[in-house]
Parts: sequence; C-alpha cells; structure tokens
Amino acid sequence: MGGFGSGRMAWPTKKKVVEQCLILDIFTIAQGIQIAPGSTGTMSWSYDWEVTRDEVRFKLESRSPDLVIVLKYALRDLKSIESVIRLQQTRPQLGGRRWWLTCPLITQQGPCDRRVAKLYLPPGEVHFGCRDCHELTYRSCQTSHKSENWMQRAKEFLLRERHKTQGDPARRHRGK
Ligand SMILES: [Zn+2]
Repeated sequence: MGGFGSGRMAWPTKKKVVEQCLILDIFTIAQGIQIAPGSTGTMSWSYDWEVTRDEVRFKLESRSPDLVIVLKYALRDLKSIESVIRLQQTRPQLGGRRWWLTCPLITQQGPCDRRVAKLYLPPGEVHFGCRDCHELTYRSCQTSHKSENWMQRAKEFLLRERHKTQGDPARRHRGK
C-alpha cells in the first residue's frame, strides 16, 4: 500500500501538512448527527489566518450492503464535487460500536480502502482522502508546540445540524 516514500510523484516543493487541510472527522460527525440513512448535515471550516471558508454538505444513504456518506462541495474552479465515502463499523471489546470512514481514493495499487477516523482535503486537491494517499505530514515537525496548538484551535470547525436532536418530533426535514 502506498505510504510515505513509496515512490509516487513527489510534491513539487515540500509535503503538504495536515494543518492546511479540511478535515472530515467521523467522531465529530457522529456527535452531531445520528449515523443512519437520511441524516444530513453541513460542515464548515474557517481559517483565521487565511481568509478562506469552506463548506461541505453531507447526507447519509444506505447503498446495500453499506452505509455511505455522500459529500457535496464546490471548489474554486470545479463546481459541485460529489464524493461517496463508505462507512465501516467495528465493535470494540468494551462494548458499543465505533464508526470509521473508508478512504475513497484509487492508488496505483488499486483502491485504497483504508479504514480511518479522518479524511483530509489538502489545498489544490479535489477529493478527500487518507493521510497516506495525500502524503501528508505534520507541521509539528518544524514548529513549536505552542504555535501548533494555536493553529489547531483556530482551525476548529463548526458542525451545524439541520435537524436538531432536542426533542424535535419531525425527524427528517429533507430538502431546503
Ligand atoms: Zn487512502
């Protein structure tokens, strides 16, 4: 499986870092919405140090035998990107269940299919993928802990629910 140093094309200058990416995190999604077909939400990221703001709409669908999360977003030059991310579930020994995202990218060796908690969209890329596929590294190699923490905080994103879970009986508000 293509990881770091696997001989694929190198980035022209230096590796992109996780801190530059939009990050899709299954744990945050699961906190915000019910992981079930029909659930929808919007995730947005705002970067304090750059003037950028990005938004991804997502919808959970059942595509037998899988549950998938369909992402829709727009990039500067390419409008209306749609990406389908397969969800996986594991049952930890301590009980309960845990959801994972599946990397949707195709590598030279075939579909990546890595089971991951987070997918990343680096600047200049079109699709979310795992750290290995995007060959991401961490800025913390180069900068102090202090500035890294500052960036983490500035980068926190907001998850807005379309349907509140606070006792709203109308479960699914489809559409606008
Ligand atoms: Zn991957």
